[in-house]
Amino acid sequence: MTTPKEILKKYFGYSSFRNGQENIVNAAISGKDSLVLMPTGGGKSICYQVPALALPGCAIVISPLIALMNDQVLSLQANGIPAVAIHSNQDEYTNRENIRKASKGEIKLIYISPERLLADLDMLSSTIRVSLIAIDEAHCISQWGHDFRPVYTSLKCLKEKFPGTPIMALTATADRLTRSDIANALNLDDPFCWTGSFDRPNISLKVMNDPGKKQRLRIIASLIEKYHLDSGIVYCLSRKKTEAMHEAISDMGYRSVCYHAGLTAAQREDAQKAFVNGDVQVVCATIAFGMGIDKSNIRWVVHNNIPGNIESYYQEIGRAGRDGLPAEAIMFYNFGDIMLRRNFVDESGQKEINNEKLDFMQRFAEATVCRRRILLSYFSEEVTHDCGNCDNCRTPRRKFDGTIVAQKALSAVIRVRSQESVNTIIDILRASTRSEIILKGYHYLKTYGAGRDLTPSEWNSYILQMIQLGLLEVAYEDNFHLRPTPYGMKVVKGIERIELSTYEKPVFGTKSKKQKPEPEIILSSDEQLMAILKSLRKDIASSQNIAAYMVFSDATLAEMVKKRPVDIESFSQISGVGEVKLAKFGKDFIGIIRKFEGLKRSMPVGTSQKETLILFNSGMDPEKIAELKGVTVSTIYSHLLQWADEGKMNEFRRLLTQEQYNLVKKIFEKDSENAFRILADEYHLPSHIIRAAHAEQRIKRTSPID
Ligand code: ADP
Ligand code: ZN
Repeated sequence: MTTPKEILKKYFGYSSFRNGQENIVNAAISGKDSLVLMPTGGGKSICYQVPALALPGCAIVISPLIALMNDQVLSLQANGIPAVAIHSNQDEYTNRENIRKASKGEIKLIYISPERLLADLDMLSSTIRVSLIAIDEAHCISQWGHDFRPVYTSLKCLKEKFPGTPIMALTATADRLTRSDIANALNLDDPFCWTGSFDRPNISLKVMNDPGKKQRLRIIASLIEKYHLDSGIVYCLSRKKTEAMHEAISDMGYRSVCYHAGLTAAQREDAQKAFVNGDVQVVCATIAFGMGIDKSNIRWVVHNNIPGNIESYYQEIGRAGRDGLPAEAIMFYNFGDIMLRRNFVDESGQKEINNEKLDFMQRFAEATVCRRRILLSYFSEEVTHDCGNCDNCRTPRRKFDGTIVAQKALSAVIRVRSQESVNTIIDILRASTRSEIILKGYHYLKTYGAGRDLTPSEWNSYILQMIQLGLLEVAYEDNFHLRPTPYGMKVVKGIERIELSTYEKPVFGTKSKKQKPEPEIILSSDEQLMAILKSLRKDIASSQNIAAYMVFSDATLAEMVKKRPVDIESFSQISGVGEVKLAKFGKDFIGIIRKFEGLKRSMPVGTSQKETLILFNSGMDPEKIAELKGVTVSTIYSHLLQWADEGKMNEFRRLLTQEQYNLVKKIFEKDSENAFRILADEYHLPSHIIRAAHAEQRIKRTSPID
């Protein structure tokens, strides 16, 4: 039997499992249920795809993301794995045809929506030999989760319907409550539980106190410039904001697309394609975007508005830096967004839970300690040291005696009888002449203009800190008006002094329009090669009508750039180059790298026996090897036979049918001197087959194990 590791290399081109994957794979192969918690990008798919290939029968993969099933299926097919999808976005004929193929044992993985699975349950369980059931996005089953989907609760019956079939539940986002919920709700039988580390140390974290509209755009522009070969995502709260952001970014001359639930399915698909293929630098999206996207060169994620909970935030920033290279997550925090979110929460039907989740999110945004510690502790992970890669770690806030600042703000709040929210208080402090201020007579207040020395951003930051420190509170139930607390009253009266953290002006994108233009970007040799490989990949992808990443991921291209493989041997060792892709794309990529390296473009001629051995051992047939190397099949056989003579190659059985083997054996036993001639002349066996069969017998005879 092929081992899981061999499957991993042969089909996916990876030479080792990531932490946890092998244990999970083995659990499934041995028939055990499992619960897999790994962050986005952790490598969950491999966990069920490898057992699906190792086990007899067909695995069923349940996923709520219909739009992305076809992507998954195409990716698998590009690796030579027979996979299909069954869902309502696909015509019924294809669906039925796929089921038929699966029932004939021609399919290794079926992706199916939960609705469809439940509708066809009896039919599927009676016609298909199900090897494994994988439930993706398993947190959808939990009421505690942030993405509860009622249909998931019906998946409870799977354990009964498919007794003895291992079930694997997978999710990227689950707090402790959700975790135990999942195992219970699915009736998992003493599951093997794996909790991968949720740490993504390569993503730097930063929260910026409302930098204002212009500054936001400047920050986004500087991210685009900084990562000009790669791309990023800007998450916005609503469709309208998404569109406005898209327009603003386009106006600055960058390539951007919009993605939200208001677009048609076709528009959304186009946007996603353009992004995945690298045709645009930015996608401006609502949360609807990005689930399951396997694009490893997303270098940055900006949250233009605060997400509603830590789970969403973590999942969204997790789309950046999936290749493990440095990536940036920046969130713009505006207190007003919290108020908006509170309104959403009130209408959500799960008010209590969602309010609590939002509270936590707010605490994260307002924190002055290491942000990663807050995140990881949310996912019940123990952290003992600061990360060094978040804004709070990099620039610990300086403190100052903020008593006077606080007194000004507090007295403004008191003088308007706690009837105003943050923005109006700031307007009063800064002597705004906005009509509302004047109409209400606030310009007669003693505190009017008392805080003119500070900018709105500074005031925003300080008032926020005052809320955090418990000097002010927000009356959520009363239009978010600010109220002084008893502690705040003590500060006003000078009984208590307080410290505030100095407001740090964002250092990003300070470049103004008047500055002279940046010098033209000069690409390094690595960047040049990367660009060339990407364009080759794009050509291949469009000629095969698949997404670029299905040819090779960016991480794989990056390794090619680093290692510059110029022959099949070294190319086959690149992570992500499986057998099928080696055969399909190897020639073109090696050719272009050779050319770039100034070598002759032609493929290495097949004199290298070692190459042959590597390809053969990776599972490739001699015919394919011959085609790849541009030599005859018998040359390949002679390479292999030479290896056999040296005792380095002992797996000829794969090349022979049982009949051929038996026949050669019989004739050699009868008349070893004339055997070659007889087999060739009378039985018309090609000479390389005879030699291979004979060699195999030789090995058998001499092998001490047999
Ligand atoms: P998840 O579903 O957990 O978000 P994926 O399954 O999409 O993550 O995997 C993320 C990326 O990591 C993919 O590009 C995948 O091919 C790659 N990957 C997974 N396992 C390995 C491995 N063992 N070695 C190298 N790359 C891997
Ligand atoms: Zn930190």
